[in-house]
Amino acid sequence: MESSSSASTIKEDKKKNPRSVAVVGGGISGLAAAYKLKSHGLDVTLFEAEERAGGKLRSVSQNGLIWDEGANTMMESETEVTTLLDDLRLREKQQFPISQNKRYIVRNGKPEMIPTNPIALIKSSFLSTKSKFQLMLEPFLWRSSAKNNISDENSNESVGEFFERHFGKEVVDYLIDPFVAGTNAADVNSLSMPHTFPELWNLEKMFGSVIGGAVWSKLSGKRGKRGETSGKKKGQRGSFSFRGGMQTLADMICTELGENFKMNSKVLSLSCSPDEASIFDNWSVSYATNRQKPSPDQSFDAVIMTAPLCNVKEMKISRRGNPFLLDFLPKVDYLPLSVVITSFKKENVKRPLEGFGVLIPSKEQQQNGFKTLGTIFSSMMFPDRAPSDAYLYTTFVGGSQNRDLAKASLDELKQVVASDLKRLLGAEGEPTFVHRFYWSKAFPLYGHDYNSVLGAIKMMEESLPGFFYAGNHRGGLSVGKALASGCKAADLARLTTKHTKHTSKMNFLES
Ligand SMILES: Cc1cc2nc3c(=O)[nH]c(=O)nc-3n(C[C@H](O)[C@H](O)[C@H](O)COP(=O)(O)OP(=O)(O)OC[C@H]3O[C@@H](n4cnc5c(N)ncnc54)[C@H](O)[C@@H]3O)c2cc1C
Repeated sequence: MESSSSASTIKEDKKKNPRSVAVVGGGISGLAAAYKLKSHGLDVTLFEAEERAGGKLRSVSQNGLIWDEGANTMMESETEVTTLLDDLRLREKQQFPISQNKRYIVRNGKPEMIPTNPIALIKSSFLSTKSKFQLMLEPFLWRSSAKNNISDENSNESVGEFFERHFGKEVVDYLIDPFVAGTNAADVNSLSMPHTFPELWNLEKMFGSVIGGAVWSKLSGKRGKRGETSGKKKGQRGSFSFRGGMQTLADMICTELGENFKMNSKVLSLSCSPDEASIFDNWSVSYATNRQKPSPDQSFDAVIMTAPLCNVKEMKISRRGNPFLLDFLPKVDYLPLSVVITSFKKENVKRPLEGFGVLIPSKEQQQNGFKTLGTIFSSMMFPDRAPSDAYLYTTFVGGSQNRDLAKASLDELKQVVASDLKRLLGAEGEPTFVHRFYWSKAFPLYGHDYNSVLGAIKMMEESLPGFFYAGNHRGGLSVGKALASGCKAADLARLTTKHTKHTSKMNFLES
């Protein structure tokens, strides 16, 4: 707790010279960080290289259609999301997909609805009897069968190996494989379990059984939540978007930031040097705009970096006059992805499916010739995204298993997508509208050596006073996790600038 005299010194200090923070990158993590800092009264400047806010949130409205080229939906699993939605009055703009629990996975060439709960899964014919037994017995069997296999922190098991150990190969092939391709564009063998699903990894360590641990956590979570406000319960409604698409979230934060948001401002270099006027280090940021004149450098007390590491590597960083070489940053493997938008006249889709979308397991791609990873039924989820006589689909192509196809020509992608949609939904003839967006670096791969990436991020933070890193390269790929990571970095920057400045000043005065 601060003493009243130190609190008033901070207030005075703030009045004279509000603490200033530069945020680099206007994706959801940077926007959330900047918004949080601004709402706490800090002087914040957000630098974004592109001429729009959002990064991987990117919605387009054209020809009576509205589509997302990046994230399509998000969840309210993190408390930081709840707070932001409430603060920005975004609840009014939230859109929940119609029949979002209806999700499909292709099996033997046909879409099959995924049972929505464990009892329905056991009752359904989605899995073989052997796999269903394995699922039911996991809480009892797993401990004894895996005695010699207990995971520890150094173990670097793949997602595929982990789930096969607990639930068998069929569950991996038909549930886990399509799920991770749909959320990470990756394959089960390349993804590291502790980095991709840290919560499940820890459940195994604590309980042995993943199912047993999950049930226990859910029950204890419910007990803990009793008496919470209704605001928290809103989060249990699953995935959602916003009217106008996910861009609405980015645009709303951007509006709040006003002139603190600098678009078309690509950060080129950062230098951290002693401040002659005080005992503190001072960050100076240089950036390029599309204007002729170079922009003058700006000075800050701290920097929150949210640009992808591949972009950070291109920046020049110096510390107290000496170059701070980033050669210790390992190469991150990024997965390429094309997002293909198609629209068909309703009368030409013979077997339309209601619900969220369909995922295609790698096994079905190999055995039955499918080429896409999956399709979201965009206008089924959100009817206002297409005219009433049309269906709008969002299909994903590429990822770790099909890197070359991700960058195929629009013509080739159109054929590939039309062929898969014909087989799955009976979509006949040419789509009335086709568009593609290519992400050469859609997702960082949380691979087996991801520890080295996290170690390098930590090293940057430890070596550079007042430097914080946030975003989807750390702690999860989802929009909610990236947003939460931005808020956490903002808290650290806020507390550190407050305490370092003040404490050091006190120490300095006392010495
Ligand atoms: C196709 C696709 C679909 C997805 N679907 C979902 C989904 O449905 N649900 C979900 O939860 N998640 C989804 N995700 C993941 C999620 O969208 C991202 O992980 C998250 O939005 C990343 O946010 P971020 O702020 O960490 O990074 P980014 O969004 O990548 O933002 C980084 C920003 O930094 C900027 N930048 C880079 N270099 C500089 C520089 N030198 N100076 C200034 N600015 C710079 C970039 O222009 C960019 O705006 C999807 C991702 C993709 C690609």
